[in-house]
Amino acid sequence: MKKLLILGAGTGGTMMANKMRKELPREEWDITIVDQDKTHYYQPGFLFIPFGFYKKADVIKPKQNFFPIGINSIFETIDLIDAQANKVQLANGKVLLYDILIIATGTRIRPDETPGLKGEEWYKSIFDFYTIEGAEALARFFKTWEGGDLIVNVADNPIKCPVAPLEFLFYADAFFTERGMRDKVKIKYVTPLTGAFTKPRSAKLLGSLLESKNIEMVTDFFLGEVDNEKKIIRDFGGREEKFDCLVSIPLHNGDPVISKSGLGDEFGFVKTDKHTLQSVLFKNIFVLGDAGNFPSSKAGSVVHFQSEILTENLICYIEERPFTGMFDGHANCYIETGYGKGALIDFNYDTEPLPGYFPFPGIGPFSLLKESRLNHYGKLIFRWIYWHILLKGKEMPIETHMTMAGKKTD
Ligand SMILES: Cc1cc2nc3c(=O)[nH]c(=O)nc-3n(C[C@H](O)[C@H](O)[C@H](O)COP(=O)(O)OP(=O)(O)OC[C@H]3O[C@@H](n4cnc5c(N)ncnc54)[C@H](O)[C@@H]3O)c2cc1C
Repeated sequence: MKKLLILGAGTGGTMMANKMRKELPREEWDITIVDQDKTHYYQPGFLFIPFGFYKKADVIKPKQNFFPIGINSIFETIDLIDAQANKVQLANGKVLLYDILIIATGTRIRPDETPGLKGEEWYKSIFDFYTIEGAEALARFFKTWEGGDLIVNVADNPIKCPVAPLEFLFYADAFFTERGMRDKVKIKYVTPLTGAFTKPRSAKLLGSLLESKNIEMVTDFFLGEVDNEKKIIRDFGGREEKFDCLVSIPLHNGDPVISKSGLGDEFGFVKTDKHTLQSVLFKNIFVLGDAGNFPSSKAGSVVHFQSEILTENLICYIEERPFTGMFDGHANCYIETGYGKGALIDFNYDTEPLPGYFPFPGIGPFSLLKESRLNHYGKLIFRWIYWHILLKGKEMPIETHMTMAGKKTD
């Protein structure tokens, strides 16, 4: 039997297990998936937890529920990938051999990498919302907070879902307004970027939304340290911002196993060809999702499009044909803007988000680079689609490659 080994059973690993079990004959290919955690977290739902809109129970399900029949699953920490010998060592000492390896170990926040961030005030007045623990701690804090300076700070890029900090800001504006205390909360967005977003047209739309909601923006701020006593964040140039509540999006790294195994860049993201999704170091290693060093967004929609390309390329590899799948960096992100509205952006490596309609030209029903109620419902329904369609590797009526149909270029 030949062996396909999948590391990580989050969004990408689970999709690939489902897709590849359908593609590969059971009598020829053994498929094994490994993860350290038995619980699958619907991470986009973390956004809603601090505001009491979702609870933990709304974003978790057992990982096992999403594995197809006919694969082996192992719940254990991965300790080392020995790519020269085609084997993976687990923390319990067990060794797994492979013919093909898929790495889908994602990314993790590293608050410990910034001096003072994980200090005395951690989970007292300093929070993250990128983990279930952080999102729940912030929900508890907001229940009794009487207001003050609220800072949302991105330490540095890359981060998961680059629009999530903006969604948090928009939601916070609506949340405190609805509670009748918006005048007591000064909301500030402190970012290392030069504007609200990386791409010019969306930066303009999102920047003017921030302004209209009375959210101040501080740009080019690269977080150097946090002073817990004075409740100040300081950048590397000595600029300071005072907070009463700091919502931090800390530095992100790949899982430590990537660097330990000699497969990563300086942030521990796997060095990967951004089009073929093959490791640049080993031909039988493939990567998808947040674990890779592709210059695309680290987002679930990206993982979905990559899973289509990777399935195609794995078949090419097995049949010893040149790769036919080419990932174009396609990302498709709903952005909650508060008060039951949302915006949507669709872009790739070469084309910035443009206005128009999605997925059907002229019809939509979703509008691009524009607020609408339907876009908000699109975001809410995404959770159902995630659990019932995406994770199970089923087809979606959305093009894998970004298309210009429905987009306005003038
Ligand atoms: C707050 C927030 C909001 C978001 N909003 C959106 C959104 O609106 N739209 C969107 O498209 N995306 C969104 N995302 C991003 C999306 O959730 C991720 O991009 C996606 O889940 C990445 O999938 P992945 O398979 O690469 O990694 P993950 O799903 O994180 O899976 C990685 C898996 O690897 C396992 N693992 C790692 N290292 C080891 C090890 N050493 N041993 C064993 N197991 C290991 C982990 O336990 C985990 O299960 C959001 C993320 C956050 C945090």
